[in-house]
Amino acid sequence: MRRSAEVVIVGGGVVGSSIAFHLAERGIRDVVLIDKGAFGSGTTAKGAGGLRSQFAEPAEIAFSEASLAFYRGFAERVGAGCGYEECGFLFLLRDAAAVDRFAAMAARSRAQGSDWRILQPEEVALLVPRIDTSGILGGSFTPRDGTAKPTLAARALLERARSMGVEAVAETTVTGFRFAGDRLDAVETTAGTITTRWAVIAAGPWAAEVGRLAGLDLPVVPMRRHVFTTLPVPWLEGAPMTIDEATGWYFRTEEGHALLVSAGDMTPAPDYDVRVREQFARAAREGLRRVLPSLGDLPFVAARAGLREMTPDERALLGPAPEREGMLLAVGFSGHGFMHAPAAGQAIADLIERGETAFDLEPFDPARFVKKD
Ligand SMILES: Cc1cc2nc3c(=O)[nH]c(=O)nc-3n(C[C@H](O)[C@H](O)[C@H](O)COP(=O)(O)OP(=O)(O)OC[C@H]3O[C@@H](n4cnc5c(N)ncnc54)[C@H](O)[C@@H]3O)c2cc1C
Repeated sequence: MRRSAEVVIVGGGVVGSSIAFHLAERGIRDVVLIDKGAFGSGTTAKGAGGLRSQFAEPAEIAFSEASLAFYRGFAERVGAGCGYEECGFLFLLRDAAAVDRFAAMAARSRAQGSDWRILQPEEVALLVPRIDTSGILGGSFTPRDGTAKPTLAARALLERARSMGVEAVAETTVTGFRFAGDRLDAVETTAGTITTRWAVIAAGPWAAEVGRLAGLDLPVVPMRRHVFTTLPVPWLEGAPMTIDEATGWYFRTEEGHALLVSAGDMTPAPDYDVRVREQFARAAREGLRRVLPSLGDLPFVAARAGLREMTPDERALLGPAPEREGMLLAVGFSGHGFMHAPAAGQAIADLIERGETAFDLEPFDPARFVKKD
């Protein structure tokens, strides 16, 4: 491992890999990316790969749109595929207040040029064959959203960054940060110390733990969520990723016609425990029975649980760490880290390259949670 670098990235999931890629693409290649485990083995390995632009906050919509554009052109730019599919994204809306809320967000976003539609139940039925529309008042649909494969994307971004000169070091834990006054000076690891100008924390659900090493109190809490894989359902091929807004239950189609199904569960996991709990299979199945009754007994053939990295307002902490010159944060994506990784990589590379970015980072400013005396 190098003993000095211009940039050290802590965390080799999709976010850290995207940052490494964007830096390297701009010629900033004196970069070391460090992961305590295997690259992409954190929460990136567990994600469902949904890419959506339906958000209330314009800055988040801008992040999604920039990221979607990146994923659409991924193979050409990165040199390998990421399994991107433009299947659209659909929220099922079951009460009038939700319809009103989504209609207002859609109208605002359409005024900015987005294709975000509010559908009648019969239009929902055309998108999702055999759906039970009883109790559904409408749908919120963005046809240009889609899905991709987080593990493929993370690996491809990292490989491309490496081919451009980034050093990627696995099985090595960052254990501390050294400061000269308020200015970052070095990153300490189990494989030695690296002096550096910049450190970027991209440690996913472990962000609070890594932040503490720099004396930062980052409000990022790991919350466990389960996802189940079904036997193939060929007739749902091409259906949008679909979320039942009232419960958070969702499904998406996978390659080989399997479905990924989740109850949208969220359980605090301060111990980072990702063992699968059977009760969430039952909850996922209840959702399947409610939304797609003909699939009520469809077997689940695989299960996994992962950690969503939640902040109090469910928006990322992205940008300079408060009062820590030379330290940047790209954490707390609150279950949107895959869909926002390309834009986050661009924004962090902008800040390192020229000290500013065209993205509006104010809603993501890490300083919003700093306690004032
Ligand atoms: C069930 C589930 C479904 C999801 N579905 C979606 C979805 O549809 N769309 C979407 O956008 N997002 C989704 N997410 C969220 C998404 O997976 C994450 O937001 C994203 O993967 C975060 O990537 P990351 O690189 O920040 O984190 P990670 O992939 O966790 O990477 C962080 C890395 O930091 C490393 N690390 C931690 N501490 C240290 C240390 N001290 N030293 C060195 N390395 C360290 C870890 O080993 C890890 O590899 C889902 C998450 C779950 C759990």
